[in-house]
Amino acid sequence: MLLSFEQALATVKEKLGEANLNPATQTLPLEQAGGRVLAEDVLADRDYPPFDRSIRDGFAVRSADVSAVPVKLECRGEVRAGECFPNAVGPGECVEIMTGAPLPAGADAVVMIEHVRVQGSRVEISRAVTPQENVVRRATEAAKGRIVLPRGRRVGAGEMGLLASVGRALVKVFVQPRVAILPTGDEVVAFDQPPGPFQIRNSNAVTLAAQVAAAGGVPWQLGIAPDEKKVLRSLVEKGLEADLLLLSGGVSMGKYDFVGEVFRELDGEFFIQGVAIRPGKPLVFGRVREKFFFALPGNPVSTFVTFELFVRPAIALLGGARFELPIFLRARLGQPYRQKLGLTAFMPARVEVQSGEPVVSPVAWQGSGDLVGVAAANCFLVIHPHETDLAAGEWVDVLPKPA
Ligand code: AMP
Ligand code: MG
Repeated sequence: MLLSFEQALATVKEKLGEANLNPATQTLPLEQAGGRVLAEDVLADRDYPPFDRSIRDGFAVRSADVSAVPVKLECRGEVRAGECFPNAVGPGECVEIMTGAPLPAGADAVVMIEHVRVQGSRVEISRAVTPQENVVRRATEAAKGRIVLPRGRRVGAGEMGLLASVGRALVKVFVQPRVAILPTGDEVVAFDQPPGPFQIRNSNAVTLAAQVAAAGGVPWQLGIAPDEKKVLRSLVEKGLEADLLLLSGGVSMGKYDFVGEVFRELDGEFFIQGVAIRPGKPLVFGRVREKFFFALPGNPVSTFVTFELFVRPAIALLGGARFELPIFLRARLGQPYRQKLGLTAFMPARVEVQSGEPVVSPVAWQGSGDLVGVAAANCFLVIHPHETDLAAGEWVDVLPKPA
């Protein structure tokens, strides 16, 4: 039975969720933690900021002194980042202050240097400031002991910076899931070998390995399985040593599509056997010997799209992160579109900004085997089953193409 796109996603989430995945953890130096998933809550080791911090170069003042401008104040000295002004700022006084320096006692705001004229020790202020203006108060970003990064969060560049600022030279992360990749097909040959006139190069394994790595998994190439049950079965059994097994091809209705049969022989459970999407309709998702597997349709665009929609979030969960649903953005349709497929369609498309608005149009492509079309695209135009007759200019969903 065909599941809808939404039902299929919910099925993947539910089955993996029920499995009580408990990935192992390891401790890494911060420099190696990029792209990994935190296995612990990370706490603020002190207040952030640790003091009332100026966010501008200028003059620390008592805001009440500069409510009516222009006004002249007496400058009592300067405070640089990394230092602390030893005295309090009294009425009618100010202190020159640099970005990142602590606000001196008595002052409650900073006037930017652009609004000040210095005349010896007198400074003329030409702009009023409100209390706390140009100051970030102590502990307003995070108080000591607060969670700044939760367990399960993926560590990107910004998170690495935050880990550094809270002094985490070592970080506990989840071990990455190992993902076995098994393309099938008698016509498929290694991409670095010359293909015979009717053979095609194995592009899917290369695409999938890049997608697995981007999703936080470690790809494991099993080679190419022929359309022959016994060999296919032994390669599948080998792949079950991984945390997740991905196959491509051999799941359609063809006479030599043996993937389904092999999983049935192994007493596999099938949770998804077909999804009402295009491309990617023959998608299979199941479990055998405690391991989950996806058998993705072999057409290169189908493989690519079904990975993004279903496998990426599954790898996130296997790696200790949250199930990350694909996020659709919105754009205006560049040309009218009609369909009556009853499917959710994902078409290679380009979104460009025109007159300040995102406008999306499909690129020319020859269907789910056409990687040339996908290469010209920067997104997929998403057409939902109920969207049978769309006019140009209507707002539609767009799935950004991953880098
Ligand atoms: P299948 O799902 O096995 O019927 O394959 C569908 C289409 O995808 C066929 O045209 C195959 O030649 C092509 N195909 C299958 N596997 C791969 C692969 N690993 N790399 C590139 N194309 C493939
Ligand atoms: Mg095949």
